[in-house]
Amino acid sequence: MTAEAAIPTIAVLVVAAGTGSRVADGDPLPKQYRRLGADTVLQRSLDAFCRHPAIARVAAVIHPDHAALYAESVRAHPRLSPPIPGAATRQGSVRAGLEALAGTGVSHVLVHDAARPFIDAATIDRVVAALAAGHRALLVGVPVVDTLKKADAAARVVDTVPRDGLWAAQTPQAFALADILADHRAAAAAGRDDFTDDAGVAEWAGRRVEMIMGDAANSKLTSAADIDAARAALIRDEWARLADIRIGTGYDVHAFEPGDAVTLCGVEIPHTARLNGHSDADVAMHALTDAILGALGDGDIGQHFPPSDARWRGAPSRIFLADALARLAARGGRLAHCDVSIIAEAPRIGPHREAMRAAIAAVCGIDLDRVGVKATTNEKLGFIGRREGIAAIATATVRLPL
Ligand code: MG
Repeated sequence: MTAEAAIPTIAVLVVAAGTGSRVADGDPLPKQYRRLGADTVLQRSLDAFCRHPAIARVAAVIHPDHAALYAESVRAHPRLSPPIPGAATRQGSVRAGLEALAGTGVSHVLVHDAARPFIDAATIDRVVAALAAGHRALLVGVPVVDTLKKADAAARVVDTVPRDGLWAAQTPQAFALADILADHRAAAAAGRDDFTDDAGVAEWAGRRVEMIMGDAANSKLTSAADIDAARAALIRDEWARLADIRIGTGYDVHAFEPGDAVTLCGVEIPHTARLNGHSDADVAMHALTDAILGALGDGDIGQHFPPSDARWRGAPSRIFLADALARLAARGGRLAHCDVSIIAEAPRIGPHREAMRAAIAAVCGIDLDRVGVKATTNEKLGFIGRREGIAAIATATVRLPL
């Protein structure tokens, strides 16, 4: 055997053909297509393998009815092959995936449950290392640590089962492709369609199967509660990671000039004057943009968008806000909250407040309850009281990775 031939060419089948009937929470969306943060469960499972340098190609095995769901929930990746239509049982779906790999130059295959989106690179490393060392059938799992009880139908304990040598099986499970394809074909020919994992098929065929240490976090999302808990844990972890919490403030004023409408927080409001300015003169959005830039210590709106630049003549101010948000995103941060106060004798802001909050939430990509918009008059005092212009003050809370 040459050195070249000893390097395995590894494909991964992510099994996602289930209809999610066990989730049973009234939501017809199968669990692999539910969102965990920004991505679906399936996307996270695929990403773990697409990102791993030892993996040559990745394909999902999906329910034939889920082609549209798949297309709208999974991003393209250079290592990701088109999805493979599955079958009525998990075993049948895996076999369909294996058949699709036959003759493609793949030497080894990892089979992974889509519902285990927390598979980590270290576990994949151990699996790949075992294949490279010559093992031909293996699975990850974790030793059983709980004492095991056997109970009868009335939930009465009838036995304590020794846990010595017991492991809870997980995925990925990895095989020489030729072996596991032959075993699946043989099982199907023998009328066996009840295997719940692929190591079981290999065991049935008499293969030597190795256990590889897995990770308790690589658990299978089965119930709606599992999905909710995973979602909550991700959100907690994300906010905990963004532990550098900063507050920025911004202030802006624009003077009235003849006109018939003002734009505040991206909402056009009919009025007896307009605001003078080089862009759309959205004084509130300018203050908010400066608040974010201030929290980042990254200059101000005038520095990044000089009024002398003809490009910003009449420009919608959401461009400036989006730029500040892009600077925040480039540093790995998130906007946690913002609050804008508009100080004007007129027009009345109250009837437009919710539209303004919605407009800001949309530009910022945050929930509505993280956006405050308030208004006050200046009690007829000073330039605002004399209706010469509008002022705005904004506060932004941003979170950055420590
Ligand atoms: Mg301004």
